[in-house]
Amino acid sequence: MAKLTKQENTCNDKKCPFHGTTRLRGLVLEGTIIKTDTHRSATFEKDRKFYINKFERYEKRRTRLHVHNPPCINAKKGDKVRIMECKPLSKTKNFVIIKKLGHDILFKQKEEALEESKVKIKKKEIKETEQKTDVKKEDFEKIEKVKKTQSQV
Ligand SMILES: [Zn+2]
Repeated sequence: MAKLTKQENTCNDKKCPFHGTTRLRGLVLEGTIIKTDTHRSATFEKDRKFYINKFERYEKRRTRLHVHNPPCINAKKGDKVRIMECKPLSKTKNFVIIKKLGHDILFKQKEEALEESKVKIKKKEIKETEQKTDVKKEDFEKIEKVKKTQSQV
């Protein structure tokens, strides 16, 4: 299917759809790579809309798939890719990346937003704990005062 170049000639992956023996059939999906795993694998994510009859509105749903990442394609985190279904390659992999479609611009923003929210939550927790300790300190002081007055009497 793909033209052979010097880089692709080095690909000796049996599971590669272009240089190996896997045959492609079935679903074709487009989404982003959110994580590269070991053993030529990656995690694919795609947002989709699901219609709910009762409210006549859409709900956001997310598909996550474990996909094969052949060395001649070598997709990285944040890449937009096209994947296609094939026979089961391992316990959890039924899809292969067949093309890179460039970099996903929204991916970085999403990650940054996630990290920011995490930092905010941590700050909140720290503040809350500080407030709690303050209250405790005050209580201790009050108790000590009461004890002193009692001892004086
Ligand atoms: Zn290959």
